[in-house]
Amino acid sequence: MLPVAEGKARPQTVRLFFALWPDAVMRSALDQLGKQMHEQCGGRRTRAEAIHITLAFLGEVAVTRIAELQALAAQLQGDAFDFELSHSGWWRQNHIAWVAPQTVPQALITLVSELQRQLKVAGFEVDMRAYVPHVTLLRKAYCPRPLPEMAAITWKVRDFVLVQSVMTEQGSAYEIIGRWSLAYK
Ligand code: ATP
Ligand code: MG
Repeated sequence: MLPVAEGKARPQTVRLFFALWPDAVMRSALDQLGKQMHEQCGGRRTRAEAIHITLAFLGEVAVTRIAELQALAAQLQGDAFDFELSHSGWWRQNHIAWVAPQTVPQALITLVSELQRQLKVAGFEVDMRAYVPHVTLLRKAYCPRPLPEMAAITWKVRDFVLVQSVMTEQGSAYEIIGRWSLAYK
């Protein structure tokens, strides 16, 4: 008989993050914007189905802890909110072109800080760098000239998701593995 592996083997891990995921209308508006930015800046567009805003990046998490994360998300008490994406730009250091809100709504700040706090309490590693919400639309882009003013798009946030990121030859592919509603008042 083959020896049974002792409990020393590391548990299998998956790459996870919490995010806001656009609905079909929002996704298409953002995808159009990405197309326009691409004409000016080149680079690689984010595929429409992959467009999102990261709330908290967890990195590699043991599969055995996914249920714990889902329970944590389920009891989080966040509020629904609307916000305007009205600001586009490009980061020279990582060649990412993005759109972002001009002012970050308090409900988003509260949601992210509460998520970060609870993740920390539960012993998950979270990136504590200042949170800068943005939608990445181009990678490996080069936009030396100012991007044209964009027409504001309103994102009505009613829920948030937990996403598994899988590396593929075509780049990262995302699978939503949980979705939780935010309270709409
Ligand atoms: P790729 O790495 O293939 O270019 P990606 O960056 O979209 O694609 P992931 O690296 O899995 O895919 O990241 C998932 C999401 O988390 C992205 O929105 C990414 O910007 C964000 N992210 C990745 N690493 C970090 C990090 N260390 N801190 C904060 N956010 C991160
Ligand atoms: Mg990445």
